[in-house]
Amino acid sequence: MTESAKSNLLGMTRQQLEGFFADMGEKPFRAVQVMKWIHQHGVADFAAMTDLSKTLRERLALMAEVRAPDVVYDQGASDGTHKWLLRLDDGNCIETVFIPEKDRGTLCISSQVGCALDCTFCSTARQGFNRNLTRAEIIGQLWLANRRLTPAPAADGRTPPRVVSNVVLMGMGEPLLNFDAVVDAMRLMLDDNAYGLSKRRVTLSTSGIVPAMDRLKKTLDVALAVSLHAPNDALRDQLVPINRKYPVAELLAACRRYVREERHHQRITFEYVMLEGVNDSPAHARELIRLLRDVPCKVNLIPFNPFPETRYSRSSDAAIARFQDMLAQAGYTTITRRTRGDDIDAACGQLVGKVADRSRRELRFARLEGSTGSPA
Ligand code: SAH
Repeated sequence: MTESAKSNLLGMTRQQLEGFFADMGEKPFRAVQVMKWIHQHGVADFAAMTDLSKTLRERLALMAEVRAPDVVYDQGASDGTHKWLLRLDDGNCIETVFIPEKDRGTLCISSQVGCALDCTFCSTARQGFNRNLTRAEIIGQLWLANRRLTPAPAADGRTPPRVVSNVVLMGMGEPLLNFDAVVDAMRLMLDDNAYGLSKRRVTLSTSGIVPAMDRLKKTLDVALAVSLHAPNDALRDQLVPINRKYPVAELLAACRRYVREERHHQRITFEYVMLEGVNDSPAHARELIRLLRDVPCKVNLIPFNPFPETRYSRSSDAAIARFQDMLAQAGYTTITRRTRGDDIDAACGQLVGKVADRSRRELRFARLEGSTGSPA
């Protein structure tokens, strides 16, 4: 397609856009003007960017574009949760989930097509890994959600407040294995000329890629969540296989480095999936309490979300309550994540649950179409 020769401005950080305009022989402040149109007003059409000269708008239309993934479907759950299936240029599909709460709206975005990590309790893992998302495909999820969720301006012309107040990189994929694109997308989330989210409202969740955690600390200040799920190596090796490479002690040392010094205000969020008879006993809770002793943290318990053919089941409410009580007694801020979007399989680890077959078919179609030369 000829379109792909155009530069996609959607994923460019302010610095990258300034470089782009410099190459065009334009002033750097054009970057901020265009960023505001794209990210604050949701505008993709250069012709509508009325504070640019007509000549510049025409030049941009020839050489650039603002292009997000296509929405294949938009599914709403009874609790207000939304799930979008998005189709990428190569026919691959990803999912994005919006979770409204009383005081905030959280968008859960994907960073890769599939995932390479093979955590045994996660349905995305069964899909395997296809590729990293581009920075435009990552920020495009926020751009699309804002466009679709923000009501039209009121009659008095005032812009309604943004519906998405928080972003979590907790969708498909391991964000720290797609470092550069994820960091660029997060820079846009934090940039006042784009989304202006505060650094505590942007959370990256990782299974514990230790060297990348250190690199992130040096690169960008965002909230960090760590998928721990087990209080020792023997169990974590089984649940989160990347643990064999970066074992618990190294992971916790990286967590301590992340919150040390200038970031003493921050706490790591540890995620712990509650699997019946696997990691949910009082002995596990005691081990976890000892393990986390010197890490500033809070703990999120996630009741396991089942998917077809899984060998695990969700811990009983009583087991979860007992586990949470023990942690709370020991002084840890602990919450049990309420299951949301259950009726549309939009909960943690369910992304591409029931649509897995459909996405796989899409993948297959894309390949078939590619091989016969017809456009994907
Ligand atoms: N790869 C990153 C981002 C995924 S975040 C990470 O591992 O942190 C998604 C969160 O949901 C992770 O904590 C993941 O371990 C958890 N999760 C995965 N499958 C789940 C399931 N079936 N039920 C509950 N939580 C699950």
